[in-house]
Amino acid sequence: EIPEIEDDPGSLLPRPPVVTIMGHVDHGKTSLLDAIRQTHVTATEAGGITQHIGAYQVNYQGKKIVFLDTPGHEAFTAMRARGAQVTDIAILVVAADDGVMPQTIEAINHAKAAKVPIIVAINKIDRPGANPDRVKQQLAEHGLIAEDWGGDTIMVPVSALKKTGLADLLEMILLVAEMQELKANPNRPAYGTIIEAQLDKGRGPVATVLVQKGTLRVGDIIIAGTAYGKVRAMVNDRGDKVKKAEPATPVEVLGLSDVPQAGDILVAVDDEKKARSIAEKRLAKKRSEELQQAQKVSLDDLFKQIQEGNIKDLNIVIKADVQGSVEALRQALVNLKNKEVRVNIVHGGVGAINESDVMLASASNALIIGFNVRPDANARKAAEAEKVDIRTYRVIYDAINDVEAAMTGMLAPEYKEVLQGRVEVRQVISIPKGLVAGSYVLEGKITNSSQVRVIRNGVVVHEGKVESLRRFKDDVKEVTAGFECGITIERYRDIKVGDIIEAFAMEVVK
Ligand code: GDP
Repeated sequence: EIPEIEDDPGSLLPRPPVVTIMGHVDHGKTSLLDAIRQTHVTATEAGGITQHIGAYQVNYQGKKIVFLDTPGHEAFTAMRARGAQVTDIAILVVAADDGVMPQTIEAINHAKAAKVPIIVAINKIDRPGANPDRVKQQLAEHGLIAEDWGGDTIMVPVSALKKTGLADLLEMILLVAEMQELKANPNRPAYGTIIEAQLDKGRGPVATVLVQKGTLRVGDIIIAGTAYGKVRAMVNDRGDKVKKAEPATPVEVLGLSDVPQAGDILVAVDDEKKARSIAEKRLAKKRSEELQQAQKVSLDDLFKQIQEGNIKDLNIVIKADVQGSVEALRQALVNLKNKEVRVNIVHGGVGAINESDVMLASASNALIIGFNVRPDANARKAAEAEKVDIRTYRVIYDAINDVEAAMTGMLAPEYKEVLQGRVEVRQVISIPKGLVAGSYVLEGKITNSSQVRVIRNGVVVHEGKVESLRRFKDDVKEVTAGFECGITIERYRDIKVGDIIEAFAMEVVK
């Protein structure tokens, strides 16, 4: 792989901020992006301002701001999932008449998870039903306190329709950016992120790159995901042909061998042979992963066919942390013998239990068994709505016992797990007694008597109990969503930044 270049602090120069717009559907994200573009991007004679390349640059009071042109936190998080960190500031659009809605909260959580500062644009203030104070009240409940209410979140009233408040918003963006002291070294090989890419009939693969470090030049040899090539031409957001692109500049690049994916990292390298060999290796790896996936599916199909006798089936979806566990469970469960019921594995896969697993289970009236993995938030919601039974285990033997009991109609667990909340670990502090997880409660609550489960990348790495729970220096009974706390877990010294702690309690089933 390509080694990361370390930039000498002395080589760093100020660079413009990169902004993403998030918020609930219909609250005006697209309108705001369009209004800012129309009022603050001046067309050049050559290009006009019609060029949509996935990002655009605004010039305000002699300073630049880059806007990513794909609104919404899904794109933002999809890019983050691929390892890309492009956004410096998130603009949270909240319609003044509608107020805080589910996707507003999601957007807040996505921005917080990425540790990106939030500026709130209270939009549609031209509307008769607009009530900015109510918006501030609702946002305060989610931890965003307006400056004029003694907090530190900047909130700007705007109307994308009437194009009012836009200059204030840009000014606030520059203010927040200034505090971040954003810097990059322009004098090194280019490093950036693919924002958009497609195959153009006439021009071949076309990719918009946000250059983040170094300078990208026509003629550079580049590699992005499984694509590589030589920069043949570059076009900026105004449709002008350019020869070079410095940090925080979005440009459309021609000359790649293939279409990369949004979120892929692009780097300039010095050797075309090397670029090709790296790209080919990545492609081979991707192909073999796809092949494995396909084989897995056909195995499941085969299984289904074998199982299609007219006997009563106990349908099961298996999810586990590694393929070995999936297979072990599959074998053990299928070998369970019972006259009336037959176990049928509808699907087996690696990774967290997701919404599509739940929908599959719902469609096939199946039970989901998770081994060392947990349902994600969407899966939990879907399971509740669809009344799908999800059972998670850390010991294969326990899973088999339960299924055996279910087959004989005797499955009656004495205890049921009740989820209390989810907490994100943002800092780990070493103290003489162990490790304190400096954490933020994402939803629900955690108490000083909670059972906890530590989840790293969707995989359960520990189960145990809270040892101590503190706010600042004080021991507390519980901490609710939107607040920070310090947590220690009994006999556990491996907590890491980014871990999710699930808090739960066991309740007796009557
Ligand atoms: P998005 O889904 O967040 O991208 O929202 P849109 O930008 O598509 O806007 C949704 C609707 O709200 C459209 O009908 C817009 O015309 C309208 N809208 C957006 N901003 C404003 C505004 O400031 N005032 C008023 N009255 N309507 C707006």
